[in-house]
Parts: sequence; C-alpha cells; structure tokens
Amino acid sequence: MPSPWAMPDYDDHEIVNFVSDRASGLQAVIAVHSTHRGPGAGGVRFWHYADPQAAVTDVLRLSRGMSYKNAMAGLPLGGGKAVILAGEERHKTPEMLAAYGRAVEGLCGRYVTAEDVGMTVSDMVAIAKQTRHVSGLPVAAGSIGGDPGPHTSKGVFLGLEAAVKRALGKDSVSGIHIAIQGAGSVGGGLARLAAAQGARVSIADVDGVRAAALAREIGGQTVPADDILSIEADVISPCALGAILTEESIDALRTPIVAGGANNQLAAPGCGARLHARGILYAPDYVINAGGIINVASEHLGDTDAGIVEARIAAIPARLEQIWTDGAASGEDPAAVADRMAQKLIGRP
Ligand code: NAD
Repeated sequence: MPSPWAMPDYDDHEIVNFVSDRASGLQAVIAVHSTHRGPGAGGVRFWHYADPQAAVTDVLRLSRGMSYKNAMAGLPLGGGKAVILAGEERHKTPEMLAAYGRAVEGLCGRYVTAEDVGMTVSDMVAIAKQTRHVSGLPVAAGSIGGDPGPHTSKGVFLGLEAAVKRALGKDSVSGIHIAIQGAGSVGGGLARLAAAQGARVSIADVDGVRAAALAREIGGQTVPADDILSIEADVISPCALGAILTEESIDALRTPIVAGGANNQLAAPGCGARLHARGILYAPDYVINAGGIINVASEHLGDTDAGIVEARIAAIPARLEQIWTDGAASGEDPAAVADRMAQKLIGRP
C-alpha cells in the first residue's frame, strides 16, 4: 500500500479523520488542512463516490482550497472540509447526522462544519444538537447569516468590474458583453447585478427553462450550454461546475477575461499558465468567489455589524489587483501568484 503521506493531495494536512459509526452506517472523512489562522472552516458534502479513494482525494483538495480561500479573504479561519460517503441510494438518516455531529465535536473546535453539496439547513440543525462547531444555521431576519449565494454574486461582480478595468480600461461594465455559464444562485445574482449596470448578458444553463427565465427577467439572451465557453464576449464567467478550464476549452475561449464564481475552475495545474500564455486575464476562483464564506464566517464569529461583511467583500477587487500586479512584475500567471500568496498567509511559504 502506498504511504498515506505520499498521497498527491495530502499536502501536510493537520488532521485527516476517518470516521465510522457501525450503528448508523456513517462513513465520513474530516480533513483539516491548516489551523494557522483559526479553526479549519468549510462545509460537509454528502456525496456518492465511485470508491473511497475518490472521497479522500475530494476532501483533501477541498480542504486545502478552504485554507487558501479563507486566508485570501482575510478571515481569521483555517481550512477544512468533510465528506459523508453516501450509499448508491443516497439515504441520509438522523442517526448518521448525529454520529457525524459527535465526530465534529470530538475535534474540539479545530474543525467548524457547514452546509455543502447534498446537505440542507435542517441537516445543520440536526448536527448542531451534537456540537456547537456548526455554521450555516437558520438566522432571524436582518441577522448575519443565511444564504451565501447573493454575497458570492456581489463579490464576483466587484471582481469582474476590476478585471474589466484592468484588461479593457473601462470603469464600468456598461455595454460590456458578459457570458455567464450557470443561471443558478451565483450566476443569476451576477446576471442581475451586471444587467442593472447596463452590461449585455448572455446566459447558458443545462436547464434551458431556467436560463430562459433569467434572460427574460434581465433582458439578456440565452446561449446553448455547449457553446457558452467559446462565444465571443468580453468576459466569460463560469458559475456552474468546476474543472471546466481544460487545455482544449482554454484554446477555444474567445474572451480576454475569465472571472466567475465556480469553485476549482482550472482542470489541471498547468491551466493557469495556459490562460496567461493566451493573454487572457484570470481572476483566481477562490479569491473572487469568497463573498459567501465571508458571510458564513461572520455568522460563525458572531459579528453583529453587517458592514463588516460588506467591507470584506469590497476588499476582493483590491486583492485581485494585487495578484495581477505581482504577476505582471514576476511573469507568473495569476493562479500561481494567488497560491503563493495564500501559502504565505497560512505560514507555509
Ligand atoms: P446552483 O446549483 O444554484 O446553480 C448552478 C447552475 O449551473 C444550475 O442552474 C445548473 O443547472 C447549472 N449547470 C450545471 N452544469 C452546467 C453546465 N455544464 N453548463 C451550464 N450550466 C450548468 O449553484 P450555485 O450556488 O450558483 O453555485 C455555482 C458554482 O459556484 C459552484 O461551482 C459552486 O461551488 C460555486 N460557489 C458557490 C457559492 C455560493 O455561495 N452558492 C460560493 C462559492 C462558490
């Protein structure tokens, strides 16, 4: 058996906790990449994996991603993530959630869990009966917390504006053609903000009805989902799936800017350099899409002033500017610059 320390995505994780609870059938992995800046914070995903190794790879990558995202957002949080291995029938029971909550509690606050793919707010409420190290719980109207989507959209919009200014020399997105992949929570919010500022918006979603409804609402146009990454536009904004920027899709891009909210947009490490070589300005995903975690973090940290959330989101464009400026000076691509900055911030220069 290969050494666990030699796993490509291990990257000196502080904790990799394999959880089994025979009574409930729970199998989970909790990974904490770094607590250098504070407790490792990141969501728990309920997902059916082809095999357990795929679950371990996923949790390690996501956990490191959270370290980088939280650090670059200036949050006093480290990075962690958990996955619950769903069976083929994807059956989730209260007993499994309780066992998961006990496992989180056992880490004594070194990991703070929250909602991710396959989990709901009511699941978080169930987990919170076992541990207080949970975020993403329902909040009273007007309090900080709740759906992170609109905050993510806001940060992506501000970052996109900064990219337009840098690459095209324009102070506003008015008249700029923005192609958005994904008409969901993040893409939809971005489309509304951009259209309100006079941008021309093209939208694609595998759910054609959803895309058409959004286009109608904001006065945009729809594009077939298979074509969105190769249409001619000023900005392509990936707001659906990860790993969509492959060597092939990058070569087919016809936009000078990539700035969107999806996580893990680069399919492989060399893809950032490939964008750079084509002269396409890239806004590193975990920097531009931090608005949601900024809001979740404020909920967890007990902030009562919504101005803190707004101020942290408003700092996203400056962080991107710093990355692009450093990259221009060193010749490195923005994804590589961001990784280096994040590693420094978590004490791993
Ligand atoms: P969502 O489920 O609300 O929307 C995603 C949309 O993408 C759906 O409408 C879906 O039909 C569409 N889609 C899926 N595959 C597609 C394809 N191949 N082409 C076109 N459309 C496709 O999800 P969301 O919350 O808007 O998240 C979107 C992305 O942003 C994800 O990568 C997510 O991880 C990331 N993200 C979200 C948040 C947040 O606060 N919600 C925060 C950070 C990052």
